[in-house]
Amino acid sequence: MTPISKKVGVLGAGQLGRMLALAGYPLGQKFGFYGMSDDEPSALLGQMHLHNDDADTLQELVKFADVMTYESENTDLELIEEISRTTPVYPSAKSLKVCQHRGLEKETFKRLGIPCAPFEIVNSLEELKAAVDILGVPSVLKTTTEGYDGKGQFVLKDDDDIDEAWKTLGGRELILERFVDFHRELSIIAVRNANNEHVFYPLVQNVHHKGILRYTIAPAQEIPEMVQKAAETFMQVLLDELDHVGVLTLELFETDSGLMANEMAPRVHNSGHWTIEGAQTSQFENHVRAICGLPLGSTAPRQPIAAMVNIIGETGPVEKVLKKSNAFLHLYDKSQRTGRKLGHFTLLSDSQDALFKDIKDLNGFLPI
Ligand code: AMP
Repeated sequence: MTPISKKVGVLGAGQLGRMLALAGYPLGQKFGFYGMSDDEPSALLGQMHLHNDDADTLQELVKFADVMTYESENTDLELIEEISRTTPVYPSAKSLKVCQHRGLEKETFKRLGIPCAPFEIVNSLEELKAAVDILGVPSVLKTTTEGYDGKGQFVLKDDDDIDEAWKTLGGRELILERFVDFHRELSIIAVRNANNEHVFYPLVQNVHHKGILRYTIAPAQEIPEMVQKAAETFMQVLLDELDHVGVLTLELFETDSGLMANEMAPRVHNSGHWTIEGAQTSQFENHVRAICGLPLGSTAPRQPIAAMVNIIGETGPVEKVLKKSNAFLHLYDKSQRTGRKLGHFTLLSDSQDALFKDIKDLNGFLPI
């Protein structure tokens, strides 16, 4: 029998890498990380290669690895292309390139028949005025690259906001999107391996505060089967179009006229952390399986409903979480700082009422 054990090199050493390693070790995989310092969340979980100006440290990791992956869609595209010449990198540069650019991403959605907000690319104040003429207000101005957690965005409520929006974000390539009147924010996580197997997790509901994900309800409640099927079809065409290997996450708006895609990430996602205890196979294990050429695991939930609550800024009353038999705590070994994701906990439950009661009992973690 061929050994399944592989050495996985991860660009980045944050909590996503940490949870990938925690999922991959039981499968016999080994891990190495390329990070900024020895006290990052992944540092104790594999060989650490520290980022410095000496290109050799990265080469050491590439030499160590049978396969490479990365934690962030902001990873240097040229670097991924260069590494791919000697070592397989999953997801490939093609997926990364599309996910790095909101314009390319939305073009791809449009071409594949995936509904999304109408948009215009904007490079000057004149182009912004013309785009507002076409799309109207309200609309959302965003940087085409490197925006996350609501950073690099400006909501234009009327035409008078144009100058202020340009002053705030102008000087780089921008995208103006029509404002979507949505009921809920949802996401779906899907996985594809190189043997063209696809698996899909259920749609989940995400609740944000100040641009940061606060909690996820999994599965999202009252989702008709047709809507789940539609989301899976979007993922199937995206995975195949990008020849994507690994986890792909799509963020969606639920609207009166159906689902609309917002953005995607070529990686394990915060809205999938519930799968560690809540699904037969976690998103982290399925990513490792996919990139290591292994069969994919079942995505079925283990219980009727779960919630994943982020621990942000301060560690908070974690003793309360530890006392609950249906709660599972994950701390990422990070120091406290306003707005920083320090950990999360997952609650598993039999009913929505019981779940919301538990969330309320642990309210110290939620700003709302
Ligand atoms: P993003 O960085 O694209 O995920 O956007 C951050 C948040 O802004 C989303 O989670 C939504 O709450 C909101 N948002 C983004 N784009 C739109 C849009 N076109 N219409 C309405 N709300 C949006």
